[in-house]
Amino acid sequence: MRDVAIASRLVWLVGLLPVACSVAPAPAARGRFEVVVLGTAQDGGLPHFGCNRQCCASARASGRELFPASLGVIDHDTGKLLLIEATPRVEPQVALLHALAGAQDRGRRPVDAVLLTHAHIGHYLGLAHFGREVASTPQLPVHVSPRMAAFLRGHGPWTQLVAQRQIELHEFAPGSPFSPIDGLTVTAIPVPHRDEWSDTMAFVLQGPRQQVLFVPDVDAWDQAPGLLDRLLDGVDVAFLDGTFWDGRELPDRNRAEIPHPLMVDTIGRLRERAQRRPGSLRFLHLNHTNPALHDPAIGREVTAAGFAIAQQGERVPL
Ligand SMILES: [Zn+2]
Ligand SMILES: [Zn+2]
Repeated sequence: MRDVAIASRLVWLVGLLPVACSVAPAPAARGRFEVVVLGTAQDGGLPHFGCNRQCCASARASGRELFPASLGVIDHDTGKLLLIEATPRVEPQVALLHALAGAQDRGRRPVDAVLLTHAHIGHYLGLAHFGREVASTPQLPVHVSPRMAAFLRGHGPWTQLVAQRQIELHEFAPGSPFSPIDGLTVTAIPVPHRDEWSDTMAFVLQGPRQQVLFVPDVDAWDQAPGLLDRLLDGVDVAFLDGTFWDGRELPDRNRAEIPHPLMVDTIGRLRERAQRRPGSLRFLHLNHTNPALHDPAIGREVTAAGFAIAQQGERVPL
């Protein structure tokens, strides 16, 4: 009975994939590594806790769910799996990763390594599920900046995961490439973002075929001179902070407290690049209120400009 329930849920999850992505590419075409999109929403996902407006009421009524921004990497040669961000919805997201990878029973190792960008709730709270109360993983490598490592070592309940060796913290040096799984190179690039508990990273993933950028959270492209150019240098596919469309979606919040580049602004800056390589610049980390999630006319505007809104389940060869 339980298996039937799991299978039907996976069918539902995979049913969310856009048609073009729902059929796995032939092994030769997809190469050794693939990036898969496991979540596209801001930290609170969609529907969003406490929101009874149309954006979330209609999602609840239809069963539409968008998980917080997260990527997975599948190594088709070895079966290894990398999880980028451990969100509060880590359980269905790792189930989706397993379904996309065709993974069998993996025992107490649902993934082989985790990468975290920063200590805001949508990006790391799911780490709790690796602890004794749930998966109880044996020494799962978690790759973080030195400041994020100090935060996890120094604050409960995370400190317990470290002390009980369910996770093993691996500190990367920002700017220096490292390999969380063999054959895959990752470089962390610091980005300006509200840094109450940790600094914040973007990740550049370099596989044998392509380079993929993941930058779900940034305060402003101009806050560090030349940041956007540096992040995009040599990148084939970029997943960019798309939290807000044009700023009108949060009339009751002071946006100075939660700054993000607006999608309309990012589209303006990168239009030429997007026209040259349509679909290579994809937005994720969209807030539940972002009209690009709800208004097909805005979706068409994004596509016409050469950009894309990332879709849960989509695959990118790496
Ligand atoms: Zn976030
Ligand atoms: Zn954040």
